[in-house]
Amino acid sequence: MNAFKSSWQHTLSHAVQGWGVGLHSGAAVCVTLQPMPVDSGLWLEHVPPASPKRFFRLSPKTCRGGFMATQAVAPGKGAGVEGVGTLEHLLAACHLVGLDNVNITVEGPEIPILDGGAWLWVQMLQTAGLVKQPSKRCLTRPTSKIRVEAAHGQAWLEAHPPLPGQEGVLSLSLTIDFPHEAIGRQRAFLVLGQRSASEPLLGTPPTQPKTMAASRTFVERGAIVALQSSGRALGGSLAHALVADESSGTVINPGGVRWGGQEFVHHKLLDLLGDLYTTGNAVRGRFEGFCSGHRLNGALVQALAQQAPMWPTCTKM
Ligand SMILES: [Zn+2]
Repeated sequence: MNAFKSSWQHTLSHAVQGWGVGLHSGAAVCVTLQPMPVDSGLWLEHVPPASPKRFFRLSPKTCRGGFMATQAVAPGKGAGVEGVGTLEHLLAACHLVGLDNVNITVEGPEIPILDGGAWLWVQMLQTAGLVKQPSKRCLTRPTSKIRVEAAHGQAWLEAHPPLPGQEGVLSLSLTIDFPHEAIGRQRAFLVLGQRSASEPLLGTPPTQPKTMAASRTFVERGAIVALQSSGRALGGSLAHALVADESSGTVINPGGVRWGGQEFVHHKLLDLLGDLYTTGNAVRGRFEGFCSGHRLNGALVQALAQQAPMWPTCTKM
């Protein structure tokens, strides 16, 4: 993941392909990632089965955070037009490894869920390898505090500018609080692009990037019937999703929860890292949230887009 710290843009050395089942649609989906020229950014080529192909850049104008996932819809397309769902884990992998310029071809309604996190995508990208390109990386950094809220302030997410001397650092700090023991209250933080491992961190060990990337998506058992009757979670399985059982206070997955039960909050870090990449640029700065999810992540991205220069007038490193 050394390219994350680089000042230079990177693309893939060659095309890679992944396929699997969509978490919400249950559809079999093939995704192909191809190199793109310098200063291209993140592009999506959507190939729906029964309508014309669409090709557009991922940005705050084309991406939005929903209840369960983040979706991209071609510009100018109104409500009801099919987009590409569940972008967040693949985008987290791209953000983490430092992949700036890529074309993502999606033959289906959403990015496949694979391992429930981003680790398989990270491995695919790292195995292919990244190549440095001859232009400085575009960055989005908050220039002053931004706060977005939901549930009358009971859920919130804040963005803060980087600390002096840490302009290349991205730190994410999240707390979740569920009213049952299966998840409960958990806090974790992730620091990427740190110049020195000896810098003081918030008093507790940070989440390792691999732990974050390998953490699975999750759902509360009591919500599954309602989700599936509204056409979501149709591709869900215990192979890639933690199912938290509110009554027993544990998960029903045979292997249990990883990392001392903290897999839930680690996965929330992963979702935020991916959603921040819908700015279309690598993001740096400090982010802190409480009970936040894709909708708040998307609202923060929209607020960032109002404040910070975006592609093609982004701040170069
Ligand atoms: Zn997720």
